Amino acid sequence: MINFDYIRTSTAKAAVEAKAKSASSQFIAGGTNLVDLMKKGVTSPEKLIDINSLPLKQITADAKGVLIGALALNSEVAENAIIKTKYPLLAQAINAGASAQLRNMATVGGNMMQRTRCSYFYDITMPCNKREPGSGCGALQGQNRMHAVFGTSEKCIAVHPSDMCVALAALDATVHITGAKGDRKILFTDFHRLPGDTPELDNNLSTGPGGQKGELITGIHIPANSFTKFHYLKIRDRSSYAFALVSVAVALEISGNTITNAKLAMGGVAHKPWRLSAVEKFVTGKTATKETFAAAANMAMEGAAGFGQNNFKIKMGKAAVAEALLQASQKI
Ligand code: SF4
Repeated sequence: MINFDYIRTSTAKAAVEAKAKSASSQFIAGGTNLVDLMKKGVTSPEKLIDINSLPLKQITADAKGVLIGALALNSEVAENAIIKTKYPLLAQAINAGASAQLRNMATVGGNMMQRTRCSYFYDITMPCNKREPGSGCGALQGQNRMHAVFGTSEKCIAVHPSDMCVALAALDATVHITGAKGDRKILFTDFHRLPGDTPELDNNLSTGPGGQKGELITGIHIPANSFTKFHYLKIRDRSSYAFALVSVAVALEISGNTITNAKLAMGGVAHKPWRLSAVEKFVTGKTATKETFAAAANMAMEGAAGFGQNNFKIKMGKAAVAEALLQASQKI
């Protein structure tokens, strides 16, 4: 780890201005991923801008939905009464991630900004186009059991590791952002990127190498909904503190036995939360049966392609989608 400067700011404006003065500075809140990245030499910011004093911890609801401040802790969100009663899919997804200790430190904004857990990315002796563009991708011909089956490129096959983000993608959330040019909003499903030719960019925040710099996430808005049936299914190597092999977030409205509205997204399968829009259209208007769910599961994994060790994710993904739909449909 190199020496670095450290400052604290108390307003979003001051934080953005501080960032503009130093190209290699980074915002830090919980630091649960960034500090690891610095220790391993994956990233070496000259300055850390501590944003923990910014007034961005609130969780407020109205008839249009709920606004979650970017600095709300993951554990606070998962335990919040509004979230538990009106957006339980989000609470379930957050509680499926990391450990209790990490959820007590990690913020909502930081969860979105966490970087892939591809082992080549964290090992600075190995090739990795995301860490060092042009150096190659160690995972393509190497250890790729945890890697993506959708939206990959010849430059990178990494996955985004978050559980929380899968639920937010399914729930049509919007990201609130501020920067030198003012405030803007972006659909959650447009926030993270596919790797393409620029795998070093994780997201669509503007300016700066790594896509990690410049703008600041201030909050997440989730529109009000009337889903009563939901399920977050996470398949992992052990029952706690493990990243998803495959995960599925499902929210359903069912009238009688007919699905009248559906939202689905997958995790562990792509460089971003993988929304299943075609599947949502397919199941809407259909009867909630195992046959419907099996057909939806087949549709969900159309176009998936593995890289050897992760081929199992295609079969696992089908089973997970079918099971998540079934579990959601049976919620009372
Ligand atoms: Fe790097 Fe992406 Fe390849 Fe992993 S999959 S080694 S993060 S380029």
